[in-house]
Amino acid sequence: MQWAEKLGFLALGYQTVIFIELICCGVWRSGIAAEQDVYLCPQCSRPAKIAIIAEGVTKSPLPLPWQQVEKPFPAKIRQLLLMEGIFDAGYSVKPKRQPDRHRRKARAVAAADGRLGGGAT
Ligand SMILES: [Zn+2]
Repeated sequence: MQWAEKLGFLALGYQTVIFIELICCGVWRSGIAAEQDVYLCPQCSRPAKIAIIAEGVTKSPLPLPWQQVEKPFPAKIRQLLLMEGIFDAGYSVKPKRQPDRHRRKARAVAAADGRLGGGAT
C-alpha cells in the first residue's frame, strides 16, 4: 500500500493492520497493529514462527482474534514432517525384501523357449 493511500485511510479513522499466519497447532491467521518480537501459538502458547501475508487497513480493534484456517496435521504426518531429511533428494525408503512374483513366470517362459528350440543350434 502506498503511503499517501495509507494516510488517507488513517485520516478516515482506519488503522493499519498486518495480516499474519502462524503455523504451530494448525494454521492460524490474525491481524496485528505492528510486528512483534515473539508470537505465541494461540492454542499451546509456545513461541511460533509467523509469516506476514498482507498489509491493509481496518476499523476493527487490533489484534484481530486468531482464526484457525487449517487443522493440525495428524500425529503420524507431523512425525513424518519432522523426520530429518525426508524431503532430501537422496532420501529413499529402504525397499522391503519381498518375493518377486514375476520371477517364476519369467523362468517358466525361458524354459518354454528352450523347449521350443529357441536356442541357436
Ligand atoms: Zn501450538
